[in-house]
Amino acid sequence: MLLRLQKKKTKTSSLTFLDIKPIMKMIGFFIFNGFLARLSYICNAYRTYVSHLIIYSLSMDLFNVYPINPINIVRAQGSTVWDAEENPYLDLYGGHAVISIGHTHPHYVQRITEQLNQIGFYSNSVEIPIQRELARLLGKVSGKEDYHLFLCNSGAEANENALKLASFYNSRKKVIAFSKAFHGRTSLAVACTDNPSIIAPVNETDNVIFLPFNDEDALSNAFKNYGEEISSVIIEGIQGVGGIREASVSFLRLIRTLCDQYASVFIADSVQCGYGRSGLFYSHDYAGIEADIYTMAKGMGNGFPIGAISIAPKFVATYGMLGTTFGGNHLACAAAVAVLEVIQQDSLIQNAATVGSYLIEELRKFDQISEVRGRGLMIGIDLPSELAHVRKDLLEKHRIFTGEAKPTVIRLLPALNTTKEMADQFLTAFTEILEG
Ligand code: PLP
Repeated sequence: MLLRLQKKKTKTSSLTFLDIKPIMKMIGFFIFNGFLARLSYICNAYRTYVSHLIIYSLSMDLFNVYPINPINIVRAQGSTVWDAEENPYLDLYGGHAVISIGHTHPHYVQRITEQLNQIGFYSNSVEIPIQRELARLLGKVSGKEDYHLFLCNSGAEANENALKLASFYNSRKKVIAFSKAFHGRTSLAVACTDNPSIIAPVNETDNVIFLPFNDEDALSNAFKNYGEEISSVIIEGIQGVGGIREASVSFLRLIRTLCDQYASVFIADSVQCGYGRSGLFYSHDYAGIEADIYTMAKGMGNGFPIGAISIAPKFVATYGMLGTTFGGNHLACAAAVAVLEVIQQDSLIQNAATVGSYLIEELRKFDQISEVRGRGLMIGIDLPSELAHVRKDLLEKHRIFTGEAKPTVIRLLPALNTTKEMADQFLTAFTEILEG
């Protein structure tokens, strides 16, 4: 009887236990599975970390000198660029004033493709007729047909060669440069750049005299003090990195007068402000003067690396005086010829003047902007510090690329065939951001 009771009890209790068991089992299963999943996630993450550690410690990475936007531009046409997710952006930055005739312009693509199928490169030890074709066209479009052309690969190189040529010419050493100037990163170009943080100790020199920009008294005094020693004066017609600041007409004229008086060389850095961007071929043209050497690069190849100096007839070339391996290669010249052909055929300098004036005029109507500066399609929008977010908003909320000059200047440097509709798209976005 007792046994039967015990059995019954056991049966009853085992029944109760059986009720909870599947639930417990399920909970256990999920906990276990969750644990397994978490464990496998941790293992995977660890494995990825370790493999990256191995990959990156074993393979080459980039030298990290650029603060970048996390956007991967994979395709471009005209003034539109697309990221890897196919999002379109309006490009009013022109890849830093480089895109002059619009991305992947069909005539440009055709010219380069045809050239590449013929020959891409041969050294400057042989005839390269397309260099002469480029020189003739540049002389015509820039209005300097009696000047000579020396081809190189970048803006810094162009300035470096101009400064050297000036020094060869008058056998002098001193250079006058100006506050907030940017002339590139090669040794003498960077020494003439008003940014001590990018001048390496090896580039430091007493040969460069920095003067305040647009200060006529300071310039006259410097010539009075050092006149016979001054090899050249280098100046951007419109300072780019310096925040879109124009050299005044009277200042440029004074440079011309003093350079003539003291036999110094006037170098017009047109790397950013040249090539039609200001609404004239060289922005220095607004002063109605001629420089002795014009330097150029950015817009010249529409993205294909090429730079040049346009040299007044008074300079005599001698073999070996200047030189480069890559400068003037067939492919770069084909790109540059195509750019000038499009600039000419589509009246892009005129367009830069028209659309630029429209933009400047409209922007000057915003009370919130501290100052609007520039000419043509080289425009600086100087904002008060509380509006420092605008450039980021343009990119992130409206997908519009613009440039910047520290601390709070938005730089517009779009292609020279930017339309009024694109300008309006920008103005609408700008208004929306300001209205918050
Ligand atoms: N000069 C000016 C006025 C520039 O704006 C720049 C580049 O931003 C340079 C020279 C240097 O050109 P690159 O970067 O092609 O050497």
